[in-house]
Amino acid sequence: MIKALRAGGLFDGTTAFGPSMVLVEDGRIKDVDTTGAQPPEGAEVVDYGAEAWILPGLIDTHVHLAFDASGDPVAGLEGAADDDVLAGMRRAAGRALEAGVTTVRDLGDRGYLALRLREEAASWPHVQPHIVAAGPPITSPGGHCHFLGTEVWGREALIAAVRERHERGCEVVKVMASGGAMTPGTSMHLPQYQAQDLRAVVEEAHRLGMTTAAHVHSSEAIVQTLDAGFDTLEHLTFFTDHGPDPDPALVDRIAGHGATLSLTVGRLPDEPAAGRIAQMLGRLYPAWARLHGAGAAITAGTDAGINRAKPHDVLPYAVQDLAGPIGMTPGEALAAVTSVAADACGLAGVKGVLKPGADADVLVVGRDPLHDLAALRDVRSVYRAGCDIDPVGLLSW
Ligand SMILES: [Zn+2]
Repeated sequence: MIKALRAGGLFDGTTAFGPSMVLVEDGRIKDVDTTGAQPPEGAEVVDYGAEAWILPGLIDTHVHLAFDASGDPVAGLEGAADDDVLAGMRRAAGRALEAGVTTVRDLGDRGYLALRLREEAASWPHVQPHIVAAGPPITSPGGHCHFLGTEVWGREALIAAVRERHERGCEVVKVMASGGAMTPGTSMHLPQYQAQDLRAVVEEAHRLGMTTAAHVHSSEAIVQTLDAGFDTLEHLTFFTDHGPDPDPALVDRIAGHGATLSLTVGRLPDEPAAGRIAQMLGRLYPAWARLHGAGAAITAGTDAGINRAKPHDVLPYAVQDLAGPIGMTPGEALAAVTSVAADACGLAGVKGVLKPGADADVLVVGRDPLHDLAALRDVRSVYRAGCDIDPVGLLSW
C-alpha cells in the first residue's frame, strides 16, 4: 500500500518547495512530487493542510543514550545494572523519536548497550530512532570517560579495539583525542594519544568501512586529528592551557580540510548553562561562525544526555543555535541536521533526504520552519521507515 503525505511546503534536505506530496512504500520514499500532481489511485492519503511542512527526520550526530540527562549522569551509571541502564536508554531513544529525531549517532555507551537496544527494535523500526553506534569510546588509561570501559594504549591495542567494534556491528569509531570536562584528572587542553597512533586508528577503521569521530577540546589534539584524517571532529573548543583560544590560522586550516564539524550546540533555554562548554560558548561562536563562513561542513552534535539542559530531544534547539550565533540561514541550519548530518554518519542518500530510495524517516511540522525554526517543535507527525512512530511500544519490553 502506498501512503501519500501532503502538505503546504516541503524541505527535501537541501531545497525548499511549495505544496508537495511524498509517496511512501515499503518503508522507503517512492517519489516526491512538487508539481501539484494528484495522489496515485488507491493510495492512502494523509493531508496535513496548507500550513504544514514535510521534512526529513532530524539527525543528531552526537548523543549518549546511556547518560540520563540528570545533574550527574556519571554517578547515575556507576554501579547501575545493564538492564536498568538499558531501560533508561529505551526512554531516551523514545524521547528523541517523539521530537522528530529519527537518527542518532551514539558516540559512547557502556558495554555496547546501544547495540542491544538497536537489536530489540530490529523488526519494529518505528519504536526508536535509527542508531549509528560507536560502542564504548576508545580512551587512554584513566583518560576521558574511562569509566565507560575501553582504556587502550599503543598502536596494536588501538587497532584491536577498532576491530572489536567492527566485529560487534558498530559503524563508527569514537576516540577521545583529548581530555574532557566530565572526567577529573584529564585535561581538556592536552592530547591523550600520539599522532601516529591516531593515524593507525583511522586507517584501520576506514579499511573496515567504518567512519571515525574524534572528541577534541585541545587545539593540539585538533591538529593531530586533522592530520590523522578523522571524518568528524566533536566539540572543537580550541582549548589551550588558558582556556578556549581559537587560533585564526588553525580555524582556516580546519575550514580547508574537509572534516565535518559536529558542534556541541543546543540546550533547553530554561535550564541554567551547565558544563564547561556551555559556559564558554561566547568565545567559541565567533570561531564556529568563521568556519561556517569559510564553507566547512557543520552538524549539530548536542551531546544529549550529559546534563539537565540536554535531554535526548534537545536537537530542535540546536538548530536555532546554528542559525543564530553561528550565522547559518534557516535552510543551511535544516540541512545541517538532515542531509549534512547523514553524510557525516555514512548515510548519504539513505537518511536526511526526501528523495526516491531514501528511508521514509519523515517529520511533519505545523508551519514553515524556514520562516521560523521554532516550528521544529510544533511536531504533527513522525514516521520511521514509513510507519507512524510508537515510542511507547519500546517501553513495553
Ligand atoms: Zn559526548
